[in-house]
Amino acid sequence: MAFSASVLTLYPDMFPGPLGLSVSGAALESGKWSLDVTNIREHATDRHHTVDDTPAGGGPGMVMKADVLAAAIDAVASAKDTRPRLLMSPRGRQFDQAMAHDVANGPGVVIVCGRFEGVDERVIAARDLEEISIGDYVLSGGEPAAIVLLDAVVRLLPGVMGCEMSGIEESFERGLLEHPQYTRPRKFEGRQIPEILLSGDHAAIAEWRRRQAEALTAKRRPDLLTRSTTAKSAGT
Ligand code: SAH
Repeated sequence: MAFSASVLTLYPDMFPGPLGLSVSGAALESGKWSLDVTNIREHATDRHHTVDDTPAGGGPGMVMKADVLAAAIDAVASAKDTRPRLLMSPRGRQFDQAMAHDVANGPGVVIVCGRFEGVDERVIAARDLEEISIGDYVLSGGEPAAIVLLDAVVRLLPGVMGCEMSGIEESFERGLLEHPQYTRPRKFEGRQIPEILLSGDHAAIAEWRRRQAEALTAKRRPDLLTRSTTAKSAGT
């Protein structure tokens, strides 16, 4: 069965959005993954289709109601659905490439997009939602975060990327940032492509790229180098 994504949102029109174009869009079209989008509001039970209410204890903004959200989740994911249930949230574990692989290796994903001040804490526990953040900043809603997560995951699904090899050398895949890339023309505003890349010596090119990747990572993201050496010495 193809990878299946279910998204719960108050703004279903935001989907597929960018996921319907380019790599993820072509993969969606050819059935390498599927996307169903549920409007949380359709699970509201009162006449006004209320999905939020004022925070208990006072304070600004509104909170998404646990009962409505739970009903929406139950409608898309039964108790025996083994897909991870993620809640996009700035409080969550930070999404990264390793997690993108984990999700891509599974049957699919259920993603809840928050709005307003977030969701009633009780639904997180009651429906076993894992909070996932895409970075240390606050968005106005979980939808752009869900799109980011799905984009990163879908391109890892089998057969989605035209050239399977191109994934292996990319930033983060080996704990390093990617080496610099060049293409024609050979000379651009007086700047040349590094001579070695035109040499045809594949071993020398690979070595140059590895060194460039290491130097760039040391300069910009030394934390990645410490992380991968710690991981190696811990035997993981
Ligand atoms: N009051 C909350 C922020 C709510 S922002 C707090 O301070 O933690 C509204 C919604 O946007 C959230 O429920 C979440 O779904 C989404 N969101 C905001 N920032 C995000 C981030 N960095 N990563 C993932 N989702 C985010």
